[in-house]
Amino acid sequence: MVQYFKSCKRELWFFAHRINMNYNNEDISVGKLIHEKSYKRENKEVNFDNMAFDFVKKKDGISIFEIKKSSKLTEPAKYQLIYYLYNMKKSGIDAKGYLVYPEERKREKIELNEELEKEMDNIIGEIKKIISLKKPPNVIKKPYCKRCSFYELCMV
Ligand code: SF4
Repeated sequence: MVQYFKSCKRELWFFAHRINMNYNNEDISVGKLIHEKSYKRENKEVNFDNMAFDFVKKKDGISIFEIKKSSKLTEPAKYQLIYYLYNMKKSGIDAKGYLVYPEERKREKIELNEELEKEMDNIIGEIKKIISLKKPPNVIKKPYCKRCSFYELCMV
């Protein structure tokens, strides 16, 4: 939901109300394939509370990793990871986070700080407000709408 909050509040509302149109989305299939092929030696899909990390390492403290297809739309993915770190801290676990882009051979380190924690408090409050709306927020066109599985529902 944090990812959707950052990318599209309308899609967040659809997701929260279990309206799903992802069945044939090519981006999602490609993303799943990269996920399956990358970091084969690591333990995949570590579940903690209501979160599922792509993998975790325990050397020099706990580090959680999220594998992403591309670094083009990083902000939503970054905030998803910040939410994980924020939630873990609330459970008494200090962790570092990494966004990894296997196809680009890149990784980005994310660390929680006081400012991000405050921002996450606000985001969670805003998410609650959005999902309590009786109907979805209005369409706001974005460059990636054409690739969204809700495109026809929103634009046609
Ligand atoms: S098509 Fe655009 S406005 Fe509609 S849900 Fe997708 S990203 Fe949001």
